[in-house]
Amino acid sequence: MSENIPIQEIDPYVQRAQEAFLNFRQLTIKQRAVLMHAVADEIEALGAELISAAQSETNLPEARLTGEKARTVYQWRCYADALVHSNVLPVQIDTAIPDRTPPKPDIRKAYTGLGVVVVFGASNFPFAFSTAGGDTASAIAAGCAVIFKAHSGHPKTSAIMANAIEHAVEKTGMPSGLFAAIATHGATGGQYLVKHPLVKAVGFTGSLYGGRTLFDLASQRPEPIPVFAEMGSVNPVFLLPERLATRAEEVATQYAGSLTLGVGQFCTNPGIFVAPNNAELPRFLDTLKTQIEQVAPAAMLHPGIAASYHKNKTDLLAQAGIDILVAVDETTPQTHGNATVATVSAQEFLANPKLSEEVFGPFGLVVTYDTPTEALAVANQLEGQLTATVLAEPTELEHHRELIAALADKSGRLLFNGFPTGVEVCGSMQHGGPYPAATDSRFTSVGPDAIKRFARPISYQNWPDELLPDELKNTNPLGIWRTVNGKLTQTQID
Ligand code: NAP
Repeated sequence: MSENIPIQEIDPYVQRAQEAFLNFRQLTIKQRAVLMHAVADEIEALGAELISAAQSETNLPEARLTGEKARTVYQWRCYADALVHSNVLPVQIDTAIPDRTPPKPDIRKAYTGLGVVVVFGASNFPFAFSTAGGDTASAIAAGCAVIFKAHSGHPKTSAIMANAIEHAVEKTGMPSGLFAAIATHGATGGQYLVKHPLVKAVGFTGSLYGGRTLFDLASQRPEPIPVFAEMGSVNPVFLLPERLATRAEEVATQYAGSLTLGVGQFCTNPGIFVAPNNAELPRFLDTLKTQIEQVAPAAMLHPGIAASYHKNKTDLLAQAGIDILVAVDETTPQTHGNATVATVSAQEFLANPKLSEEVFGPFGLVVTYDTPTEALAVANQLEGQLTATVLAEPTELEHHRELIAALADKSGRLLFNGFPTGVEVCGSMQHGGPYPAATDSRFTSVGPDAIKRFARPISYQNWPDELLPDELKNTNPLGIWRTVNGKLTQTQID
């Protein structure tokens, strides 16, 4: 990986990536899958050096990093397999009907990579949402070349991962320059990449501010390009009265665990908890307080994230109507996140949009509602979310249909009686959501469907068979599933 290069040295990387893309796009999905499995093998073979670099750069514990590494390896394999076996970039063929009036042409549609993709990763997932993370894997799967803008929070980790990908590119004889990670000075280098005429798409995971800035820049280019930005979210949890009555302590314990997991540094952290203001509520709050008090402050990802946590939390706690329920060890060093929970009435919450902003870290706001109408108003006021959760007894759900519909409108993933912090890598996962959770709610950044973001369809009309991409040839040389004249089949066309 290149070290902090000045802007004027960026161009050759983009040029090489473009040349690599032009060669790479000639290859079949099976050849792309071979590369992806090789990347998985290279990452899997990385040992203590990777984990200790990430530990020292992010303060994340070894067990968490080991798990994240396995997830990252799995992502490459899973996306490679989906590319070849599951029709993730669907192929459609409608054969000609020459004797129809007017004659119907032969039309065949397949996908091609968008071109050079610039990827920005987040600090809180140094493997799974960074250099060799889901955006890089899905862009390569789509047939694109990738330039990764290394995160300033974990440069050594990024360099090790970049080497692993570059080895795999070399070992499998793929075009050199297909992947490059570069460290650039501050925001300027990344912004230069987004504006570069040879760059055709951007993948981003990180803050709302960063994602929105890059989205605006990309839209203002003479040739606008898509920015698939997955950003922050407060992941509201709505507790209904019967569930509170039957399981106040259990729910409080689970909430405390989810809120403080990884020092609260998850994009799916449940930052807002909406609960009924009734006689059962004190049981929930008492247990929540007790549980949170047991969570020792821990070092956050880097001093900048910790400083933002303390500032944003202090600003929020200074708002009208906020009462602190629990704040663990206020004397904790500024580099550490101390779990804090505050309460506010739905009325105050509805009057102040600042209270719905993400405080990245172990901070929870319990919003108490007096009536179902108030709970619905809170849901309607929220912006787009990665997740929304309903905690309820099955029997009470029918009385809250409007609330559930409102939450479905606001979120990419709707959970029932669970907590949102874990994000499974699988075909049915939606990790995205209406703005500002993401810039395009039609797509996911986790699961094989993430590949779709970086590919575009192209139709070939009446084209000679031998000049078609392999996916579209009559003999179906790749043996893939295709929709031929409306039917899904693996058979060849006679
Ligand atoms: P961040 O500060 O936005 O940084 C992400 C990347 O974007 C970094 O490489 C950063 O460059 C770059 N960047 C940020 N602002 C930029 C700008 N104005 N111009 C050019 N480049 C810019 O995010 P973070 O602090 O690493 O991550 C924490 C945030 O990510 C939280 O809000 C969390 O909720 C969110 N997140 C979301 C997801 C998801 O899937 N939705 C997953 C994980 C995290 P530098 O390295 O040079 O600063």
